[in-house]
Amino acid sequence: MEPTFFLSEIFESIQGEGNYAGANSLFLRFQFCNFTCSWCDTKYTWFKDSGAFKAFSAEEIKEKIIASQSPNVIFTGGEPTLYPLDKLVVPGKKLHVETNGSIIPVLPLDITLADNNRMTREAMDEAVISRFNWVVSPKLSNSRQKVNEESLRFWASREYCIFKFVVRNSADMDEVESLINQYAIPKQKVYVALEGQTLESQLKPDLVDEIVRRGWNFSPRLHVLLWGTKKEK
Ligand code: SF4
Repeated sequence: MEPTFFLSEIFESIQGEGNYAGANSLFLRFQFCNFTCSWCDTKYTWFKDSGAFKAFSAEEIKEKIIASQSPNVIFTGGEPTLYPLDKLVVPGKKLHVETNGSIIPVLPLDITLADNNRMTREAMDEAVISRFNWVVSPKLSNSRQKVNEESLRFWASREYCIFKFVVRNSADMDEVESLINQYAIPKQKVYVALEGQTLESQLKPDLVDEIVRRGWNFSPRLHVLLWGTKKEK
């Protein structure tokens, strides 16, 4: 059976965060998530009744990717790895995935979400998805979600991803430090962003100094600086 992809938003903007910050990109926001993070800014993607979304076939999504002028395509959510992303490859486009890192893409998935919605997909082809830029964002205790150890071990062993953490303070950075030590994640693959939805929340030079001292990369959140909480930005 052909897979169905549920999308809540399709828009062009700049990538706000991570190792491609500033890049002209087409965003595809997938509906549904296996987490319910306390500070999530896209709660409208969580459930069947939490926000508007539409069903697409792989061919329909690829047509939208081809029609876009953006060289980068960002699969975000929600949690994009609930879907077989290896079916969405379009030659000439750089594909990126923003994931919470709790799902192993190369294993088949059969999961029941908090609203009893069952999501299934086949294992993704690693030869295909290893050409994507994976941005893995394990959630810290401030999100009140559990770390999936098997999944983090998978991501820590893969060359084709970077890790992005969202922190509020030094205590959160201590947690990042112990997590990356536990899973032997190289410092140069770590990008740390500051939590918050206001301009003020992003302008904390002391925290950025500390990120640099710890040997990590700072990730801006350009969409927050420029547009605050505006959707489709
Ligand atoms: S993983 Fe991302 S989309 Fe899902 S609840 Fe957490 S912040 Fe929101």
